[in-house]
Amino acid sequence: MLSDFEHKKVAIWGLGKEGLESYRLFRAAFPTKPLVLINQTQDFTDKYCRFLLEDEVKDHLQDMDVVIKSPGISLYHPLCDVFRHHKITLTSATNIWFAQKRSGTVIAITGSNGKSTTCALLNHILSGLGMTVEMGGNIGTPLFSLGTNADYYVVELSSYQTADLDHRPDIAVLLNLFPEHIQWHHSHEQYFADKIHLIRTGAPVNILNHTDPLTRDIVTPVPRGTLWFNDPAAVHIKRDSILRADITLGQVTDVTLPGRHNLENICAALTVCRELGLDLKACFMLAATYEGLAHRLENVGTIGGIRYINDSISTTPEATIAALKSFEGNQITLIAGGEDREQEYGELARYITAHPDIKVITAYSTGPRIAKALGDRASLPAHDLKDAVEQARKITPKGGLILLSPAAPSYDAFKNFEMRGDNFKNLIKHHL
Ligand code: ADP
Repeated sequence: MLSDFEHKKVAIWGLGKEGLESYRLFRAAFPTKPLVLINQTQDFTDKYCRFLLEDEVKDHLQDMDVVIKSPGISLYHPLCDVFRHHKITLTSATNIWFAQKRSGTVIAITGSNGKSTTCALLNHILSGLGMTVEMGGNIGTPLFSLGTNADYYVVELSSYQTADLDHRPDIAVLLNLFPEHIQWHHSHEQYFADKIHLIRTGAPVNILNHTDPLTRDIVTPVPRGTLWFNDPAAVHIKRDSILRADITLGQVTDVTLPGRHNLENICAALTVCRELGLDLKACFMLAATYEGLAHRLENVGTIGGIRYINDSISTTPEATIAALKSFEGNQITLIAGGEDREQEYGELARYITAHPDIKVITAYSTGPRIAKALGDRASLPAHDLKDAVEQARKITPKGGLILLSPAAPSYDAFKNFEMRGDNFKNLIKHHL
């Protein structure tokens, strides 16, 4: 509860989107409360705030009882130990939001891939049924910006937010596990442990993916109250249909979202709907009409007989394989490469090698590594996205598609994946 902080000395660590929202929240609740703000830069002034750099924190520990850490700062940052050692409580805006009393049902969704899409699908279904839904968290809207009077709260949580979550949602969903975010978590084992922490919080209902090998390996024992999706006894895909056990809910051909992985996301969302006691056929109809979020296999349009797909969100080889699988049977020119995070490109290279219809253009820091992983299978190097798009246009036949799915983060060349995707879309529009 916010009132718990009234007489505590509070510091906010990291002033990104969420940190700033926490600052505004505290300032609105306690207009003259002294606050410590720990950040690299001082972008505004507040006469009741003291700004500190991380290096200065050790000299001001007496000014802090509680530190609200932003998710982008690793839980394994050396300062976290300093705070613990001095009995300073380390918490997060997510924890403070979860601690507040509310009447609606809180559905928290995590997973290595598909979080935003599954949240947006669920939001689309529940809103379509006339319920009041608030959606936020990692998907972009800070939780404290959400309304407080909803039937359902659909909350996307990244591994950075599940790692130190000490509250339970009403329904917890873990979509899948792939190794990533090693810089923050320091090891893959720690990443998995931090991610599955969501389903160790004691939520009454946990929803897990029956066909995800890492989930099956790592989540042992399976928590009580577990529902599976992708399970023949529950909501699953079978040939061209989506079924619940042996009851057909709808046809895959009616689904607007491309790709098998999106069918899995639909199964996860429908499993939540099942738990909520909703009519699953009606929910499927709504899910089928959902068009998807920008930058995720986004259909940008067809120009000169070539289709352009923007999948700038893909920061991992697994996401790019999922994107390629979504368009199997097409002549695809893939544009890949981005920031180096020690990604393992062997599997992606194997997939491409097995599919002669795929051409590859590589760029940015991991471009040469992807080209190397492809070995004998030739790829074209590009200087940047503009060059890549120009080359792709020359080598893609009519009826084919050009897919931006970088298999790497964007930060070596763009502010974020949204800017990378917008840049791609602008390059295409300018060609019109
Ligand atoms: P997140 O929020 O977890 O980053 P998104 O819903 O934004 O996930 O999707 C990001 C990308 O991840 C998609 O463009 C797609 O390539 C891939 N993806 C989405 N869902 C899945 C899934 N269930 N399994 C594997 N890959 C997926």
